[in-house]
Amino acid sequence: MKTNANNIMMYVHCKMCLKEIDDGVPDTDADQVTPRDYQLLEVGWTDKGLQIWCRRHNVNVCHFMVSPDKDGVEIDGTKDNSTKEHPI
Ligand SMILES: [Zn+2]
Repeated sequence: MKTNANNIMMYVHCKMCLKEIDDGVPDTDADQVTPRDYQLLEVGWTDKGLQIWCRRHNVNVCHFMVSPDKDGVEIDGTKDNSTKEHPI
C-alpha cells in the first residue's frame, strides 16, 4: 500500500449533511448533490487525537483518540512527536 495514495475504503460523513441532502438541499437539485460536494469538513489534531469537524453545521463528526507511543504518532511513515499541531 502506498501511503501517499488515496487508500480510503469508506468515507466519513456528517449525518446532518446527509439528512439535508436526503431531504433536498434548498435551491439545488438534490439528485446532483453528493456528500463530497455538500459537506464542509475539516480535519485536525487535538490534544487527544484527530478530529473531523463539520463547518456547515459547526458540529463534531468524529474524534479519534490516538495514543502515541513514547516516540510519538506515526504519520505517513514518519514519526511526528507533536500531536498538538501538525504542519499539514
Ligand atoms: Zn454537516
